[in-house]
Amino acid sequence: MKILISEKLSQQGIELLQQEPEWWVDVKTSLTPAQLIEVVGQYDGLLVRSNTKVTAEVIEAARRLKVIGRAGTGVDNINLEAATNKGIVVMNAPGGNSISVAELTMGLMLAMARAVPQASVSTKEGKWDRKDLTGVELKDKTLGVVGFGKIGIEVAKRAKAFQMNLLVYDPYVSERLAQDFNVKLVSLDELFAGSDLITLHVPLIDATRHLINTQTIAKMKTGVRIINTARGELINEFDLAEALDSGKVAAAAVDVLSEEPPPAGNPLLRHPKVIVTPHIAASTAEAQEIVGVEIAEQVRGFLKDGIIRNAVNFPSVSFEEYKKIGPFLRLGENLGSFVSQICEGRLNEVGIRYYGETVDINTHLIASSIIMGVLEPILGDSVNLINARKHLDERGILLIESRSNRVRSYSNLISVRVKTDVREEWIEGTILSQDNTRLVSVDGIDIEAPLHGSILFIRNNDTPGVIGQIGTLLGNNEINIANFALGRGESHHAVGVVNVDSRISDDLLEHIRHCPSIRFARVVQL
Ligand code: NAD
Repeated sequence: MKILISEKLSQQGIELLQQEPEWWVDVKTSLTPAQLIEVVGQYDGLLVRSNTKVTAEVIEAARRLKVIGRAGTGVDNINLEAATNKGIVVMNAPGGNSISVAELTMGLMLAMARAVPQASVSTKEGKWDRKDLTGVELKDKTLGVVGFGKIGIEVAKRAKAFQMNLLVYDPYVSERLAQDFNVKLVSLDELFAGSDLITLHVPLIDATRHLINTQTIAKMKTGVRIINTARGELINEFDLAEALDSGKVAAAAVDVLSEEPPPAGNPLLRHPKVIVTPHIAASTAEAQEIVGVEIAEQVRGFLKDGIIRNAVNFPSVSFEEYKKIGPFLRLGENLGSFVSQICEGRLNEVGIRYYGETVDINTHLIASSIIMGVLEPILGDSVNLINARKHLDERGILLIESRSNRVRSYSNLISVRVKTDVREEWIEGTILSQDNTRLVSVDGIDIEAPLHGSILFIRNNDTPGVIGQIGTLLGNNEINIANFALGRGESHHAVGVVNVDSRISDDLLEHIRHCPSIRFARVVQL
């Protein structure tokens, strides 16, 4: 494995990766975008903070990349769509820096209320200008918290200690959570209208870009103070500067800017009522250590054991869950691949039904593995667990999942039906023990065969001599039979699954198809 760390990361985190035998870890913290594109193709893992822009071009050039780890929370410097399309897991280390960000938010709030930076500068300049430096108390002021996630909650807790009143806007949290923290959930307009100070803790997405602009500022109290330790683009900086000039906004404190480092023309930089810090909210010894180690552990866990934690483009799986689910992922992929290799026509629908123990485990992942198996024979290596559903959606293929409590002969069973414009294929499989995956039915006919390796699948008339004919043909071609399973259905319809030790050539398959009782024959490679 080759890992690239493109920004400063905790030494302990780096060592954790270096300790892996046969892993190569490069720390290159001053790569230009062009240099990153040039070298990224060699690496299996990439660890970044917020400065490295992992653009679509970088991802395009990342031929071997399997995982991108973001030491921190926001992943807006990573092109998620491109990564997902390419099947690259993007992980972050959320939470590790929440306290640091919340503490800086409080620090900025206090500094702004008492004009601490301005007071310091003026005193150092030899002035003793006390009357111009009258501040305000935080006590009994209303703080509007936009975004009540990990950081918003920590800020609210601290603001309560300052005896502030709290209004919270977050459309995705429950009333119950608000009650737990004794805060009032309100609409965004109510928050704007009722707050003396407003602090932003939302991700940068289309819905939050320029959340603070001339129109929304107009809804705020005159003399409002604004703090932003989330993302610069949440604020239209020109609109804010104008409101500061007019006195509508009394002061602002920002740790983040729309362009970082900011160009000289940024209107907030030289504004006397603005405190600016260079994106340092998470830059504490504690936070850097925690997120650096966390992300290194997560990337190692993924590359070594396939464990997905804190992925922003895929559901998380704990080690315990992964151990439990691993055999089902193999079963799912093999069932998907088998059915895909025997089906004819244009795929319209994939139906999956879970029985028994499978009902209680992470079926989202099992379904992804089945889809991956279905699409692999068509798309090859470009499809994996991360992007399988996306590929299916893009092709307009319907996915129908259901769970059944009907008792079947097996303690766990997965049933897969695929519909094409020509016909429907239906197979079922089970796990007998850890690595023993079995095909247990085809076309609704019971059959039991190992689900791996090279397989000859036949549909035949239920007449004497079929086993003999196939056995002779395979034997004459030096192909050893590992297992021969036959199942009979109605109307003389039978199916056969022959596990063989070596490849069946196209010529031989053609011969098999010409046997009198054979209706259909395919080679399946798992
Ligand atoms: P989080 O995911 O725990 O919380 C974000 C909250 O925003 C969630 O509760 C979500 O429901 C809410 N939200 C989403 N869309 C919203 C919308 N349109 N309106 C209102 N609320 C909405 O994230 P977090 O760890 O609390 O971090 C918040 C943000 O802080 C991050 O996205 C990141 O951009 C920023 N951050 C900055 C620094 C820094 O160094 N300055 C460090 C860490 C995080």
